[in-house]
Amino acid sequence: SIMISVRNLSKLYKDFIALNRLNFDVKRGEKIVILGPSGSGKSTLIRCFNRIEPHSSGSLTINGQIINDHTSLPRLRGMVGMVFQNYNLFPHLSVLDNCTLAPRLVRRTSRHDAEDMARRFLTQVNILEQANKYPIQLSGGQQQRVAIARALCMRPDVMLFDEPTAALDPEAISGVVSIINDLAAQGITTLCVTHEMGFARHIADRIIFMDQGCILEITPPDTFFTNP
Ligand code: ADP
Ligand code: ADP
Repeated sequence: SIMISVRNLSKLYKDFIALNRLNFDVKRGEKIVILGPSGSGKSTLIRCFNRIEPHSSGSLTINGQIINDHTSLPRLRGMVGMVFQNYNLFPHLSVLDNCTLAPRLVRRTSRHDAEDMARRFLTQVNILEQANKYPIQLSGGQQQRVAIARALCMRPDVMLFDEPTAALDPEAISGVVSIINDLAAQGITTLCVTHEMGFARHIADRIIFMDQGCILEITPPDTFFTNP
């Protein structure tokens, strides 16, 4: 089934065309990697999915809902989780409280239920033992896992990752590969912006290759990496 549908999607910053009439669909549980040179529009594209950047024209449909000016942002951002490059954890909150804040505020989940759910997802990403620590006490890879658990607590259909391997050592990279494979097995759709070809080859069902705001190619990784 189709989770994301992109039709003639364009994004302008003033008169600069950052995304130029993109068209593609993504299936439920699919793992998409977005590759392309710096400045090609990769971050802009994933930021349109949670409306950190509103698109300028064309249409974007996620899980059957048209995303536009009338879309409720708290609802959209629950449906589309994002793991930022610098993780964006709340520094003054413990790991557990980072995970329970949005469900309690946005979904009115009780503290008890929110903490149960947080422990469940912190366990899934193998970081439960740090639940009472603060972000500054954790390594980059640990903070990233907290950011993933925090997003999962909103039960998203789609997860966005901006350069998830940029600050990680090889062991942590294989950790994030297995987490993303786990998410796919649960039917969560993932889109990942990266520069790492090895990572892309390992996790992608399909690779979107962008240049100057356009999609040059959408293809499974074996085809992509064997092209001359
Ligand atoms: P990538 O993620 O592929 O490096 P970006 O999506 O960050 O590319 O940027 C695409 C283009 O849009 C770049 O030329 C960048 O300078 C420009 N751009 C990105 N954000 C803004 C902004 N807020 N205002 C103006 N131009 C922007
Ligand atoms: P990334 O490539 O990961 O998006 P950048 O360093 O290009 O990171 O962008 C960081 C921030 O600066 C983003 O919020 C982006 O929207 C903004 N930005 C990028 N390029 C421009 C630009 N040409 N003019 C204004 N803002 C920009």
